[in-house]
Amino acid sequence: MSNGNESAPVIEVTGLGRKYGRKEALQDVSLRVGSGGVFGLVGENGAGKTTLIQHLLGALRPQSGTVRVFGADPAYDPPAVLSRIGYLSEDRDLPGWMRVGEFLRYMRAFYPGWDAAFAERMVGEFGLNPAAKIRSLSRGEQARTGLLAAVAHRPELLLLDEPSSGLDAVARQQILAAVVRTVAEEGRTVVFSSHLLDEVERVADHVLMLHQGRVVMDMPMDEVKARHRTHLLRWAEVPAADAPTLPGMLRAERDGREWRVLCDGDPEALAAAVRAAGGEILETAPATLEAVFVARVGA
Ligand code: ATP
Repeated sequence: MSNGNESAPVIEVTGLGRKYGRKEALQDVSLRVGSGGVFGLVGENGAGKTTLIQHLLGALRPQSGTVRVFGADPAYDPPAVLSRIGYLSEDRDLPGWMRVGEFLRYMRAFYPGWDAAFAERMVGEFGLNPAAKIRSLSRGEQARTGLLAAVAHRPELLLLDEPSSGLDAVARQQILAAVVRTVAEEGRTVVFSSHLLDEVERVADHVLMLHQGRVVMDMPMDEVKARHRTHLLRWAEVPAADAPTLPGMLRAERDGREWRVLCDGDPEALAAAVRAAGGEILETAPATLEAVFVARVGA
């Protein structure tokens, strides 16, 4: 995706900090999202993903640092920003007493750009009954309704907080991935948070990893895949209990005479270091985003 520096950024966050009492929910967070593509936000429970999304919506004002969305400050100029954003909150926030059709008509009133034909088509594709009360819908149906309401005004920026929660595996692949990809292919931007790292790996073009409120990785997905590898290593002599010191090593686990390590960086430099330490590489495989996450965050 074009998350580089070439075009005016859709999102630009610089040095953002947020405390709740003594808890630092965000610390010195900076990121830049260019237009087009899918930006995945990952982190453990409490890492700060929702707090970051709330700043992008202008629901929270930065205590330190700056937030710009479409060049404007969302906390001080909400109309300039919110009309161009589609948002699905983590807890959906849907009015349970409304019927699906009523809810969509209600949402339409807020957005001049609402695409009624598109919304109607999606109601069919999502298998929703317009006459059903939202309260009576399953979690997955509520997730579909919320997603539909977030995209039907064709926003330039779609912010989805845990859109997968409540969706089964088929719905995630058929609905969420399709919506996210369609929006991106139309040149719009999607930012979504998720705990499902295989899904982020499949769908996102760029990943931002948060850990305890700090950015620990901000990288195009291609680069994540190209740089991180797991290796199975063996030493001629049983190595000491301490992990070997190797270039770019993020995690090491011992299994008898062998070590399984995850490294970020030049495979040649690693191979030379293993040889110099009297070992050999038995296997090498690309690391999954989940393995990278555990290595960077789990330590
Ligand atoms: P999850 O994956 O569990 O949804 P998250 O990454 O979205 O987590 P946040 O909800 O942003 O994390 O929370 C970040 C930290 O800030 C957590 O420690 C949380 O307890 C704290 N926090 C968030 N909102 C509040 C609040 N209104 N009052 C006090 N603490 C808060």
